[in-house]
Amino acid sequence: MHGMYQDKCPKCGNDNLKIYEQIAIGRIVSARTGKVLENKGIMEVTCWNYLCKCGWAGEIHAQ
Ligand SMILES: [Zn+2]
Repeated sequence: MHGMYQDKCPKCGNDNLKIYEQIAIGRIVSARTGKVLENKGIMEVTCWNYLCKCGWAGEIHAQ
């Protein structure tokens, strides 16, 4: 899923990186009220980037 694998932080060397994911969900809403009628769940990861506890954040990758 995450095309470019990075095993450690380039700033502090920490090898326990996290990944921030933005996820698209599908749902059906009423055109009249905007009320959610049906949740289709997670469709895809739209973009993601690595994060480190030192504050470093990698570039954002779009899918
Ligand atoms: Zn770091």
